[in-house]
Amino acid sequence: LLTTKAITKKFGTLDVLKGIDFTIEPGEVVAVIGPSGGGKSTFLRCLNLLERPTSGHVLFDDEDLLAPNVNLDRLRSRMGMVFQQFNLFHNLTALRNVVLPQINVLGKTKAEAEAHAMELLEKVGMTHRANAYPSQLSGGQKQRVAIARAVAMSPKLMLFDEPTSALDPEVVKDVLGVMTDLARQGMTMIVVTHEMGFARKVADRVVFIDGGVIAADMPPEEFFGEDNTNPRVREFLDKVL
Ligand code: ATP
Ligand code: MG
Repeated sequence: LLTTKAITKKFGTLDVLKGIDFTIEPGEVVAVIGPSGGGKSTFLRCLNLLERPTSGHVLFDDEDLLAPNVNLDRLRSRMGMVFQQFNLFHNLTALRNVVLPQINVLGKTKAEAEAHAMELLEKVGMTHRANAYPSQLSGGQKQRVAIARAVAMSPKLMLFDEPTSALDPEVVKDVLGVMTDLARQGMTMIVVTHEMGFARKVADRVVFIDGGVIAADMPPEEFFGEDNTNPRVREFLDKVL
């Protein structure tokens, strides 16, 4: 579904990504983990062109994303993204947040968009707050609405950048539950996370990004297993587990 070839990213003289070769197949869930500053967010942002890679290739559905004339709106509707800071529209209710992009980007009618939005709010357990504004919602509730909004575009791939890092511990579980349901329904997902339980239980692969390179890419059983003697991985796991 998506392949990167030797992508690099420099900010001025800082080499943040140093040649990332990555691929994800339809239906796969990849957890991206690694030390702070290693380049995880930059990697994710290079996939949907929130950042433009300095060199290399990104192929999504066989389309070269770094070619000129790539339609960014279309790309971002096919590649949903959920951030640590829930970026809902503050002046719109939860329902309208999920409805509006369907009308504006997908050209759905209001009735179609509302019906789909209510279905999705149901899935994330938010129908009872459909008419609340973001300021009236808890962090976990906002994040569940943000996920519903991204899913409403019927993306082929969902990117998550530490979606639970800004949440109170008691609601982290709700959001991880919604993400787990999505994964079980076959959504293709790349999830940057510090939730090792999620990486272990839900991901098909763990990608460890350290110093701007993929230092490990393997199934969670192997990654978290005793036999993984990669010293950087051990050092990282000793800190977080
Ligand atoms: P964390 O776990 O803390 O979120 P990360 O792995 O996501 O870390 P990135 O946010 O990708 O790391 O940052 C990698 C490096 O790139 C850091 O040194 C950061 O300071 C630098 N960096 C990121 N974005 C920019 C930017 N827009 N301009 C300059 N430097 C940047
Ligand atoms: Mg980050």
